[in-house]
Amino acid sequence: MNVSVVLFTADLRLHDHPPLRAALEGRRQVVPLFVRDAAVDAAGFTAPNRLAFLADCLGDLDAGLRARGGRLVVRSGGVVEEVCRVAAEADADEVHMAADVSAYAHRRETRLRQALEAEGRRLHVHEAVTTAVPPGGVTPASSDHFAVFTPYFRQWSAQRLRDALGAPRTVRVPDTVASGELPTRRGLPDLSEGLASGGETEGRKRLAAWLRAGVADYADRHDDLAGDATSRLSPHLHFGTLSPVEVVHRARRAGGPGADAFVRQLAWRDFHRQVLAVRPDAATSDYRTHHDRWRSERTAREDIEAWVEGRTGYPVVDAAMRQLRHEGWMHNRARLLTASFLAKTLYVDWRVGAEHFLRLLVDGDLANNQLNWQWMAGTGTDTRPNRVLNPVAQGKRHDPDGAYVRRWVPELAGLAAPAVHEPWKLRGTQRAEYDAYPDPIVDLSEGLARFRQARGRDSD
Ligand code: FAD
Repeated sequence: MNVSVVLFTADLRLHDHPPLRAALEGRRQVVPLFVRDAAVDAAGFTAPNRLAFLADCLGDLDAGLRARGGRLVVRSGGVVEEVCRVAAEADADEVHMAADVSAYAHRRETRLRQALEAEGRRLHVHEAVTTAVPPGGVTPASSDHFAVFTPYFRQWSAQRLRDALGAPRTVRVPDTVASGELPTRRGLPDLSEGLASGGETEGRKRLAAWLRAGVADYADRHDDLAGDATSRLSPHLHFGTLSPVEVVHRARRAGGPGADAFVRQLAWRDFHRQVLAVRPDAATSDYRTHHDRWRSERTAREDIEAWVEGRTGYPVVDAAMRQLRHEGWMHNRARLLTASFLAKTLYVDWRVGAEHFLRLLVDGDLANNQLNWQWMAGTGTDTRPNRVLNPVAQGKRHDPDGAYVRRWVPELAGLAAPAVHEPWKLRGTQRAEYDAYPDPIVDLSEGLARFRQARGRDSD
């Protein structure tokens, strides 16, 4: 036997791919395999926007493999059963894959190892494929993970990352293994109109453009809502069309305060992964509970609907929620302030918001989404869990001339700042001109008082 299987999961690329490189060692034949996992579908983690992006990624991966003499094998069903079946068809003695952090990924790895070993095959799991620093790669003296970002970042920054690997020149795939059809975007319902395109080729282009012109201004402009001056690499990092190790190396080579600030954000990604790896329950339960008695889908239905549909009467919140629906993506500052608005001002369970984000986000990611929601709800790792973002102040600060609101809220397109952030203050005929836009659904000071009372404190 001289055949290996490489199971692709959240690492849909050919550059800097340690499992593929290891599988190819010794001039082996390789079966590059992707399984459309029935369990992931059943758990509801497949949103149309992500399925579309995934289809792009798989098409591009297949094209990249074909250019090197190979092809991608795609199967659907139970991942363990399909990997074992393909390994048997190819007479492979080993399977390579990337480590991952969720509870499901841990179970998948254990079941796969047992099933393969029962048939005399070995599973090799590679670290630092979907993260720059693996979870557990840095730990504090007294715990299995860091609960605070700043000390984590200090140690993370001091780690020596492995070198990034090039893409293989040739990939030989045995003829004996048939593939199902590659998925396409065709027929997927309710896709966001402005959805980004996926695939390693697109990701590498975007990264190169970002490092050439973009990252240098990141430290100053990353919170500028209208400027849209962040990398938009999140879906590529989520699907692994870009390697975090390679992105960190290349950003560090670019250098400067912008690159430093950008690398810090990549460390946030690893930070949340090292939390979820040891606290898989944090995907659904409070990481640090305050015994909140949240309003729920049953008790706050109208407020939740207004938030989802972008008609809360707070322009910057509504602009952000409409951007999410239109693009399947939202600016980080907008994610922060819409999450604060739902969880704190409306005092709705953070899980309701996290679920809605996962229905639409093309980068929707269990670790980043759930733990950022918890951070903003004050049940996660924020050291100031009771801070509340004021949406009017946030709008004036991060969208000072109102261009972001005007872009996404056409009802207010004729208004300049500061009125565009507080249209309810308009009087008489001017107010009448904008009456297609709703009045605020909640008084901010009442929302704040409710939250403070619930948390049992007067101020933060
Ligand atoms: P950039 O600013 O260019 O940052 C570069 C990369 O660093 C990002 O692509 C991302 O991988 C990482 N990053 C940046 N900010 C964070 C952060 N706060 N936490 C973790 N990693 C970060 N990110 C996701 O990838 N998937 C999600 O499902 C997700 N849900 C979120 C939900 C909420 C409520 C909040 C507040 C944030 C969420 N984020 C999520 C984090 C962040 O908003 C996005 O990663 C970022 O907006 C993506 O845009 P970008 O690629 O232009 O980021």
